[in-house]
Amino acid sequence: AAPLPGQAVPAAPGGRPIPAVLGADLEVPVRGGRLVPYANLDYAASAPCLEPVSAAVAAALPAYSSVHRGAGYASQLTTARYEQARHTVRAFVGARPGDAVVFTRNTTDATNLLARALPEGTTVVVFDTEHHASLLPWAGAVRLAPPAFPGEAVRAADEALAALADRDGPKLLVVTAASNVTGELWPIAALAHIAHRHGARILVDAAQLVPHRPLNLTALDLDYVVFSGHKLYAPFGTGVLVGRPDWLAEAPPYLLGGGAVRAVHGAAGTAGPTTADTTGADTTGAATTGTAPAAADTAGTGTAGTGTAGTGTGTAEVEWHDDPEARHEAGTPNVLGAVALAAACDALTATGWTALVREEERLLARLRAGLAGIEGVHELSLWGPDHPRVGIVSFVVDGRTAREVAEALSNEYGIGVRDGKFCAHPFVRHLLGGIKDGGCEDTAASAVRASIGIGTTAEHVDRLV
Ligand code: PLP
Repeated sequence: AAPLPGQAVPAAPGGRPIPAVLGADLEVPVRGGRLVPYANLDYAASAPCLEPVSAAVAAALPAYSSVHRGAGYASQLTTARYEQARHTVRAFVGARPGDAVVFTRNTTDATNLLARALPEGTTVVVFDTEHHASLLPWAGAVRLAPPAFPGEAVRAADEALAALADRDGPKLLVVTAASNVTGELWPIAALAHIAHRHGARILVDAAQLVPHRPLNLTALDLDYVVFSGHKLYAPFGTGVLVGRPDWLAEAPPYLLGGGAVRAVHGAAGTAGPTTADTTGADTTGAATTGTAPAAADTAGTGTAGTGTAGTGTGTAEVEWHDDPEARHEAGTPNVLGAVALAAACDALTATGWTALVREEERLLARLRAGLAGIEGVHELSLWGPDHPRVGIVSFVVDGRTAREVAEALSNEYGIGVRDGKFCAHPFVRHLLGGIKDGGCEDTAASAVRASIGIGTTAEHVDRLV
């Protein structure tokens, strides 16, 4: 399949062998109590852990402590590992110098962080095809119907942004790079170009792209990208928002607490101001002299630098970090999650995308050809069977609900797939409507999704078919 503009697969001379995943030898019970090797075809939900990721976490476990806080060796080491992870993620997505790399819990957390950081009066434009994580965080967004072909996506975004020309305030176009329902790749380079022509910014949900294809934020001229570690062969609990620092530096902190502040003045019922601490780590210093400070601002209004925290008699005047990463990462971060995510980025880069993409496309073609050869099985697709896609295939089976198919695959064959609407209800309804119009019966408004990646074998695919 031809890569889309900006998504060219670079040659990787000297790339390493594709790493192994944990759990490849897992056996699971099927009907009758027999054990069979597990065929995990549910990578789009969460991908299994790569061995080098597991090794990196194991290496970090013996000496950890909280970051940015202590002079002790373990704290210094942990801080170095955490900041190295940030650096690795920055390089992995080809971020510009100065771009923020904010660690979050997952993609959902990252989109919500950006939604909270939008300047007052921002208008968001979003396609109805989005995963709920990219569809729901925006209040009053302009929603665009599923486009019939890629060029129509670009035209629809162009028209929507042109129609907003007279509206004051910033604009943000939100789009997913690879659909979690169909795996189809979206023309993100062309959409970025259109957004910028209208003075808008673009957020790309890369949750399903980065496990399958390289992403270069600078080359594609993207303003923000978000993704999750657990879909990128690292365990749960870490995601990231990468992109332009200015809105993030000016927005109220996403979470209020230690780490997000440069200094806290005053204290409950006491006098101030006194700087508690300047390292951004400790906020326990108590004021001893002077009069109670007047509130400079509320934390919710977006003024950089100062604000108030707490309520009632406990109100304290706070100097928030201007640095967007510190500002939005209050509390003790998930350092091991960041280490795992970075190790996954390193492992994929070291392997090289050429080998990864070639192997995935071989298995994906086998899977799709197999399904296409079965009467009564219908693949879901927005832009037709020839449009490039990552290793995700959703389908329905005539006369069977998606749940029946998924349960049979698990109970009879030891195959793990997902069934449902994949947190993309409007999109799946749209796709199933098309199939029903085409004569398919009994799709019961849900589909089955098989998704592949590193560790998937031809035997897994053939078993499903
Ligand atoms: N965006 C896409 C395209 C996804 O596939 C998913 C997860 O399925 C998400 C966002 C949300 O990811 P998370 O559940 O890790 O927040």
